[in-house]
This record gives sequence, structure tokens and C-alpha cells, in this order.
Amino acid sequence: MPPALLITQCLQNDFVKPIGKYDPLPNTLHIGYEEARRLLGERPAEGPVARVMQWACAQPDSVLRLIHIRDWHRPNDPNQASHLRQFGDHCIRGTEGARFAFEEPPGAAKQTVVVDSLTLNDFVGTTLEAHLAPFVGAKTRVGLMGVWTEAKVTFLAYDLRARYPELEIGVCSALTASSSRAHHFQALDQLERLLGVKIFPAVGEFVRFLGGEGGDVPLPIPQASGHPRITIEGGVKLQEADRSLLCYLFRDSREARFRCLDGGFSGNVVLGTQSTDLYGHPQVPYVVKIGPQAMIGKERASFERVESVLGNNAPQISDFADLRDRGAIKYRYAAMGGGFSTTFQKRYMAATCSSTMPSALSGPARCGGRWRRWFKKTTPPSCTSPAAAPAAIRRCSTRRTSGASSRCPPAPPGSRTSTAT
Ligand SMILES: [Zn+2]
Repeated sequence: MPPALLITQCLQNDFVKPIGKYDPLPNTLHIGYEEARRLLGERPAEGPVARVMQWACAQPDSVLRLIHIRDWHRPNDPNQASHLRQFGDHCIRGTEGARFAFEEPPGAAKQTVVVDSLTLNDFVGTTLEAHLAPFVGAKTRVGLMGVWTEAKVTFLAYDLRARYPELEIGVCSALTASSSRAHHFQALDQLERLLGVKIFPAVGEFVRFLGGEGGDVPLPIPQASGHPRITIEGGVKLQEADRSLLCYLFRDSREARFRCLDGGFSGNVVLGTQSTDLYGHPQVPYVVKIGPQAMIGKERASFERVESVLGNNAPQISDFADLRDRGAIKYRYAAMGGGFSTTFQKRYMAATCSSTMPSALSGPARCGGRWRRWFKKTTPPSCTSPAAAPAAIRRCSTRRTSGASSRCPPAPPGSRTSTAT
């Protein structure tokens, strides 16, 4: 069986380097905070791209060949002038922006090929055709990963399909990205429909397409530290792979407790979590869904298609991982029911009582001392029992509206009207 081929496309700092949520884009071609985070993960050294590169570099050349295509521009080259004029300066040779956004594993003996791309077409003025010569006429599997999905990834797939019709081309939705999530998924649909490219939602499926055994991309699970300590409540029995996925998804936790919200019998399980970080601080609650890799990958890709239009109260994907034939998604909820979390407004309205509210405000993870001091200073003495509190607040609100009392609590920071609303 001929070796498979993995081609990365423009995985460089100027395109994908992680940036802050409100940071300005470093150039016009950067894919932005959200997509960079989706592509590289919250921790790029442990994210999807890094893990696939670790796997790829561990494969012998007889199994997998690796080609990195990078934009590599010279501002004084007249052949590149129109490209740089169109998109602005980016990936100028030798600069930090032109560096790869991933690290190859130290000591890797993998022979990788780097192709310097000068324009939108990776074959014009480059060595790519020469490096692909051994694959002419061969039924080789080629995987593409990188950015932008609707531009250089699509253009490359088109060229490969047109020049080497025997190649079998695959793309993973989690390993490609664009400046627009919508354009990313539209491009994936077009790749599949017009060019016959196989689209894989799960990273493990993509790796298996390239010859990986069992889709086994390594998970950086802390081994010697003893964390996270995992407790499964309710007698739910998890497979070994499922427990490893939980260890990975909660690798920044000292302790994590899970209770079954659904499933547990047919291989799918939905777990609610309570966890503490490495310093013992409570972490926000999550919901973790574990199941067959293909099904979980499909759910994640489908969710990502609509995530941007769901609003702030909808869940967000915090992390995901594949291991062997299993997959897991870690959802973060803006508001969780079932006693996991509450809001300041709910606590204030339900327990506006000096005996309970200060304790609720005492935890530094929930509120700072500023809130506690504000509450003690501004809460009227009559608000000393739960029964008296609502009436006292109504009185205070009425007085404050008329400007009659300076003892009424001011609107807390962020409140639109008053403390009683
Ligand atoms: Zn360029």
C-alpha cells in the first residue's frame, strides 16, 4: 500500500496564531479569535492541530509523507506585488508572522517537505509539483488541513483533483478553518459536492483515513501528577477510553465529579460535572457527552454550524477529543439549572437578608470584597429576614425613584434599573 500524504496549508502565525478575544487582527488574513481557538484549541500545545502533528511525525515515511505549504513572501518581488497589494503584508519571509503556528515534536525523525507558496496557487513558481511526482497515477490518500477553507484549501483541493484524478482527498472540519464559520462550512459542502472530497467531522476518522490505527491520536493526559481525581456517581460504568477522555478534558482539574444526566446503557452517556482547579477553586459546571466517535464528531460539526446564532445563553463547546473509536464534547453553559449555578440577581431576590447574603458574597470566586462592602453599606436594617426583605426592597425602590432616601441601595454595577428589578 503506497504511503498516504498529509499536506498542511498556511498554518502560520499570520493566519492562525491565537489572539485575545478583543485584540485587533494582526493582518487582514488572520482567521480571528474564535476560529483560531476552534482550530488550535484553548491550549495550542495540546489542541487538535498539535496532536495530529505529533501523530504524523511519529509515522514512518513508508506510511505517511508530510508536506507543509506556507505563504512565504518577498515584498520586493514584482511577481508577488499584486498578491500583497490585494491582501496586505503577511507572511513576509523570515518574520515571526511567517513562522509555523505549531511545533514539531522534539527529536522527530520525520522527513518533512516545506513548499514556499507565492500566490493563491500553490503550484505556480513552487516545488510542489516536483514533490508530488512520485504520486502520479497512484491511488494515494491525501489529507488536507489548514486555512482558509474556502480559499487556499479549496484551491489546493481543486488543483489536486484536476492534476491527479486518482488521488483520494480527505478534509477534517476540525482541522480546517476560515475567517468566517459560515464560509468554512459552505466550502466544506462545496468540496464534497463538486470535488468529491471526503469530509470527516472527527479528527480520529481523518487520522484513520490516513492510515492511523484505530484513529489513535495521542492525548496528553497527566500521568504522574495524580490529577484529576475522577468520581463517577450513580454506579455508571465507563469504558477505559471514556475515562481517558474525561481525564483529558479535565486535565486542568484537581478533582472532577460526574453524575449521569442521560444514557449509560447504549454506549452514549451525558454527564453533569462539578470540579475544582489545581488550586482547589470551584470551576464552572460543564456537561460532557461521550459516544461513538463518528456520531460525536457529527454532533460537534453540526453544533458549530449554528453556534454563532444561538446567543449567549446557549451552550458553547469548551473542548473535545477523540480516542480510539470514542469521542467526547465538553459543553459550557452560560446558565445551568439543577443547582449547579445561579445568578447574583436570583440570589439577591431570593435571599435579601443580611444573614445569608454576606455568606453568599464571601467566596472570592463568586464576588469580590467590593460587593460585600457595598451590600453591608447599602442594605437597610429592615432587610434582616427573608420575610421582610421583599417589602423593604419595594419601599427602598419607591423612595429611590422619588429621590427621597439616601439609604436605598444603589443599582449594582451592571444592573439596568434598580436592585429590586
Ligand atoms: Zn500570501
